[in-house]
Amino acid sequence: MLHHTPAVVAERKALRINPAKTCQPVGAMYAALGIHRCLPHSHGSQGCCAYHRSHLTRHYREPVMASTSSFTEGASVFGGAPNLRQALATIFDVYDPDVVAIHTTCLSETIGDDIPSILKKAAADGIIPQGKRVFHANTPSYVGSHVTGFANMVRAMVETFPVPAAERMEAVNLIPGYVEPSDMREVKHLAKMLGVDARVFPDTSGVLDAPQTASFRMYPSGGTPVSVLERLGQSRLTVALGPTASEPAARFLEAAHGVPCRVLDLPIGLRATDRFVQTLLEDAGGALSPELNDERGRLVDLMTDMHAHLHGKRVALWGDPDPVVSLTEFLADLGMKPVCVLTGTPGKRFELRVRGILKKTAPRAVVGAGADLFFLHQVVKKEPVDLLIGNTYGKYIARAEDVPHVRFGWPILDRVGHAHFPTLGYRGGLYLLTRIVNTLLERADRDAPDEELELVL
Ligand code: SF4
Repeated sequence: MLHHTPAVVAERKALRINPAKTCQPVGAMYAALGIHRCLPHSHGSQGCCAYHRSHLTRHYREPVMASTSSFTEGASVFGGAPNLRQALATIFDVYDPDVVAIHTTCLSETIGDDIPSILKKAAADGIIPQGKRVFHANTPSYVGSHVTGFANMVRAMVETFPVPAAERMEAVNLIPGYVEPSDMREVKHLAKMLGVDARVFPDTSGVLDAPQTASFRMYPSGGTPVSVLERLGQSRLTVALGPTASEPAARFLEAAHGVPCRVLDLPIGLRATDRFVQTLLEDAGGALSPELNDERGRLVDLMTDMHAHLHGKRVALWGDPDPVVSLTEFLADLGMKPVCVLTGTPGKRFELRVRGILKKTAPRAVVGAGADLFFLHQVVKKEPVDLLIGNTYGKYIARAEDVPHVRFGWPILDRVGHAHFPTLGYRGGLYLLTRIVNTLLERADRDAPDEELELVL
């Protein structure tokens, strides 16, 4: 295990050990699954596609459909155009999707395949049937992370589908970010409670949390329909949740179609959810419904009731930049002390934002982007914490240091519930807070001597 991780941090610029991220195509594949009747296509070798599909399947515990250009040595030398043309012919012949969303891989990017030209010729040659859509995103994995891959694919959606607007409609585009299907459901719930006509994209609810029906469906009922994507340029506003995952698409819609945008933090925790709700209320000019006010009140009530168990608890957290920023704010609001906050996705904005949140409560916190779990372990060894919050890969650190661990973020490969119970919104905050508090209480019970084991905590 990890008992030999040294506490002393040595400078290393060209080495990552257990990076807190994975590669761009994983996020691109996930985003593409959020379009109804869309088949993600990996333009590269079979190994990339198999890895990305299996990683998604392990996290969501659902089959993930995707095809591949299946590169071999020939394609690596002469380019992947023949493979992609053959793949498209087979895809439309056998699997009949409405949309094929192509993402590139390290190999096809290094070769320099010109995907738009290949697609133009394939359409002219009749390989892409009339009425079917094929588009692509560039997702080389030697830059960025799965989050930038997601962002690139979402931006490619708005570059491809929206048609020029004859007039503005009352709808609001909502980009929920790289979040769980349950969170996308929660975003739609909040919009409905606020009376907002929302066009949510991409939307993996009903795709990666589809019910068991005893019959196989290649394309589940969920996903944003193409007809909705085509009308995105007619909306009066775009709300992008999570700047890293959602802002590029929102900015493109603004520049190309004149749809103004608001970029917000992911609505995780009380204040970030308040900001999201307030933005929609200001736009729609409505008032908070009693039902939504009650949802908020229940979260505030639990935050208040549990404060004694949380105050001053030292936490190390890691994961994707958008959820980690909002979670940091939520933990600080709970009276906890985030002393180490890391993301594997590169970018200065993350550090600035987290330092801003923690400047009063934990000014000495270790904050870093492009970081890895080896470094997190070293920090935790030097400055022990009461709780770890992050994805499954932290379980080895949790065992080595005997620290409780709340699973949060992506990927979660050894627990269930994340695809079905949200962490976004007031209800998601309730669920997340419950898991944090219960994990700490279980540890308190475990560590209590017999004479101090309390029945009521
Ligand atoms: S890092 Fe590159 S080569 Fe490796 S799986 Fe990802 S896309 Fe494929």
